[in-house]
Amino acid sequence: MTAHVKPKALDDFKARDFRMLIDGVWTEGVGRTLERVAPGHGVVVSRYPAGTKADAERAIAAARKAFDNGPWPRMTGAERSNILLRAADLIAAKADELAFLDCIESGKPISQAKGELGGAADIWRYAAALARDLHGESYNTLGEGTLGVVLREAIGVVSIITPWNFPFLIVSQKLPFALAAGCTTVVKPSELTSGSTLLLGEILIEAGVPAGVVNIVTGTGPEVGAPMTTHPDVDMVSFTGSTGVGRLTMANAAQTLKKVSLELGGKNPQIVFPDANLDEFIDAAVFGAYFNAGECCNAGSRLILHKSIADEVTARVAELAKKVKVGDPLDPTTQVGAIITPQHLEKIGTYVDGAAKAGASVALGGAALDLGLGQFMAPTILSGVKPDMAVAREEVFGPVLSVLTFETTDEAIRIANAIDYGLSAGVWSRDFDTCLTIGRKVRAGTIWMNTFMDGASELPFGGYRQSGLGRELGRHAVEDYTETKTLNMHMGARTGWWMPR
Ligand code: NDP
Repeated sequence: MTAHVKPKALDDFKARDFRMLIDGVWTEGVGRTLERVAPGHGVVVSRYPAGTKADAERAIAAARKAFDNGPWPRMTGAERSNILLRAADLIAAKADELAFLDCIESGKPISQAKGELGGAADIWRYAAALARDLHGESYNTLGEGTLGVVLREAIGVVSIITPWNFPFLIVSQKLPFALAAGCTTVVKPSELTSGSTLLLGEILIEAGVPAGVVNIVTGTGPEVGAPMTTHPDVDMVSFTGSTGVGRLTMANAAQTLKKVSLELGGKNPQIVFPDANLDEFIDAAVFGAYFNAGECCNAGSRLILHKSIADEVTARVAELAKKVKVGDPLDPTTQVGAIITPQHLEKIGTYVDGAAKAGASVALGGAALDLGLGQFMAPTILSGVKPDMAVAREEVFGPVLSVLTFETTDEAIRIANAIDYGLSAGVWSRDFDTCLTIGRKVRAGTIWMNTFMDGASELPFGGYRQSGLGRELGRHAVEDYTETKTLNMHMGARTGWWMPR
């Protein structure tokens, strides 16, 4: 076991003590305290209250009261929009502090964390615009005596549960849209990375969000998250995390038939044809596999290469991957940071060992890196992977790239679709027909053509099959947090049922 030396960058840093936000009041709770050890530095950086079931229930009651009696759902879209815009400005103003927290708690590189904060502020602005445009439909085509109006109403109290890999970005893909619709919320961030979400609570109060509209309860999934998925006063659950917990969330929510939105895992292929611009692709392959240390639902963790170029492309990807700078997340030149926990590092190693035993070759890396800081994993490439191996089908959630090959377009599509996930995919070819064929036949929520992992607030994001249910972002994102209500309005004499007039 390596002895950790507190890095210079954390010399003046004192572990921060956070509190939970329930009904507009910051509270320490009555439970234990959770300590977060920075994965890239091995020192305690944050302490949060370990919330209890009772804390979750108090937060749900506050959100219910704020929805049923409070001003938030009754405000005009413009009023809510202005508050969300103020929040976006405050997020931008505090981006460095938020990014620093995400960096030290999750182990992601500081430069990347800052980029995510810029993206998050943009999402809050986009949601603010949608708050003013939420509307239903009218039907003036039902005959002289009838006018039909379809209203969009806020669905009510929403439980928001988020994972550790993009702490601020993922809560920003949910919360501003729920707020734009007029919902009230209980948010549970990951117990490993709660800091930036709690700071967001301060920002929202400063921006003018009324008490009880956003409650933030820290703690573990089974203690705090589970009651948020079963409680009868919750109308909807918006969850991002693993497919296993997503499945449990859906089963829990089924007890009271809540609406569920799920963003889950992925095992995303990049399919490469011989006519592709390989210089562009090599860079995208390395980015897709090692961005966020591969702890990314969207990671391009499966390369499906045409047999004729497989050896050359694998060698070139390995050459570039060797240059990727793995190291101290606080170093602005670092490209790949730490692995979230020692247990997760071990799990990644088990996948690599299992693949080697099953017949794959370790073409690069394959082991943990001892940098004298926290826990790190070398960028890894496994070649000779077959579609039925665990490493080709399951989410490793680490910097591990599996290389498979194909000979015909149909075979590439078959391999791409032969898994339980369907979050995203990439296709690389200069031929329009080839790109479009893959785009239409691969079953995934996003298909990138001659690029990878680009995104925009305007573009919906979510998965097919066991990658999830529903879509986030895009112009329909606010509608996801609404119910429709039909007003069927009659004018003049009504035709009777049993006594015709
Ligand atoms: P988990 O599923 O382990 O946890 C996600 C959240 O659910 C955490 O806040 C966790 O709490 C909570 N949770 C755990 N158990 C329960 C329960 N019984 N009831 C309610 N909530 C519970 O995922 P990870 O945090 O490990 O995140 C990694 C996963 O997230 C990967 O599979 C990844 O693919 C997926 N993901 C998907 C994305 C997408 O958009 N499709 C985006 C990013 C990640 P805690 O851990 O604090 O105990």
